[in-house]
Amino acid sequence: MRIIVDPDRCEGQAVCVGLAPAVFELGDDDEVVRVIVDEVPEEHEKRARKAVAKCPMAALREA
Ligand code: SF4
Repeated sequence: MRIIVDPDRCEGQAVCVGLAPAVFELGDDDEVVRVIVDEVPEEHEKRARKAVAKCPMAALREA
């Protein structure tokens, strides 16, 4: 699976980073989260899906 971030929606609260730190990254100055993997490794898929579901801005989607 892949995860896509909508930069217009993401407000950088980093809920996703907390749930799946192997998939998402937010630097000190970043306002929009980065997906740090092209393809989410199978062992992180469950956490990544949870992040998609829990993002308060609905900025993440599965591709
Ligand atoms: S939880 Fe949503 S709004 Fe917050 S950093 Fe992640 S993608 Fe952006």
